Amino acid sequence: MSKSIQSINGQKIRFGVGIRNQVSQEMEASGLGKALVLSTKFQAEMAEGVAKSMGAKSVGVFSGARMHTPVEVTAQAMDNIAASGADCVVAVGGGSTTGLGKAIALRTDLPQIVIPTTYAGSEATSILGQTENGVKTTRKAPGILPEIVLYDPELVASLPVPLTMTSGLNAIAHSAEGLYAKERRDEISRLAREGIRAMAKGLPILKGDPGNLKAREETLYGAWACGTVLGEVGMALHHKICHTLGGTLNLPHSETHAIILPHAIAYNEVEVPDLLAPIAAILGGDTPSQALWHFSQKLGAPRSLLELGVTEKDIDRIIEVTLVNAYWNPREIGRKGLSVLLMNALAGNPPSSSKEAV
Ligand code: NAD
Repeated sequence: MSKSIQSINGQKIRFGVGIRNQVSQEMEASGLGKALVLSTKFQAEMAEGVAKSMGAKSVGVFSGARMHTPVEVTAQAMDNIAASGADCVVAVGGGSTTGLGKAIALRTDLPQIVIPTTYAGSEATSILGQTENGVKTTRKAPGILPEIVLYDPELVASLPVPLTMTSGLNAIAHSAEGLYAKERRDEISRLAREGIRAMAKGLPILKGDPGNLKAREETLYGAWACGTVLGEVGMALHHKICHTLGGTLNLPHSETHAIILPHAIAYNEVEVPDLLAPIAAILGGDTPSQALWHFSQKLGAPRSLLELGVTEKDIDRIIEVTLVNAYWNPREIGRKGLSVLLMNALAGNPPSSSKEAV
């Protein structure tokens, strides 16, 4: 049984076990002829399976997608498209593969069908981050937003448990910052709460039973809700710190989000306690940051930057880069407060909230 949603951003969204095998029907309904299927090299087999189910509607698989969407990989995929005459792309994977599909769409206007296999949420945004000569730039444009998203619980079931937990926390981070976003509106706050609720319900089940398809579907619903929040409103301190850590020290994406989240929320909760209160109400805890801290412990997620190889020597540089072009944030961002936040995250200490000057 499949479930469909017409998203507030205009995307066609479908959920269902085995829905990855309905790509050709979706293409038919949209008047599309042939698609190039995209994946990372680690998910080539998964992508081959989808391509096979598409029969003559697939021109083959390009499995060169890589983290941070290098422009040279996009150029290779574009050559493939030109030679094959494909008139759309099908991305099978996480944010890295979705990124490649978006990069192609930006350059060609080709429609995209995405089959997400993580909870990162990129499929629900019109944001593209890409890398050229080692420099990552981000842009937002309506043409980047994928047209159709098919969420198949069976495909995400192979996501290893540790990555499932950190990817789920990455999704929660979008909703947590959506709750206090400058442009927040009621329907976004509702979606943010729904996303956190779905993750709170599904992730603990998946920790012990990763193949549980009901919990996979619940968490994919959460990924959609949280990803849509990410696409609709601006993110703040938490995302800025994660982008800085990722870009400066090349840290893994979802693990970084998982570690920083309780600390970034601790920093902001003294300023906007009412807006963040739903987090504690949903996850259970005295404060939103404590609730997130205990939830990540329950999930067995990494909780210290030391585990990712960061050292105390790196912290000053991270503070400097975070302060340059700082994103809007509900609380002033200051050097002292940032230092406390990052040192706690480095050591894996519990988050500390303080109203002291930052
Ligand atoms: P990812 O796509 O890099 O995947 C991580 C690894 O897990 C890859 O090797 C992948 O092949 C593998 N994998 C993914 N799903 C799997 C599955 N079901 N089974 C087995 N292996 C699987 O990671 P991600 O966290 O989804 O995405 C991170 C990237 O996406 C970052 O570059 C980030 O900047 C970007 N991103 C962009 C946006 C946006 O709106 N533009 C939003 C979120 C993330």
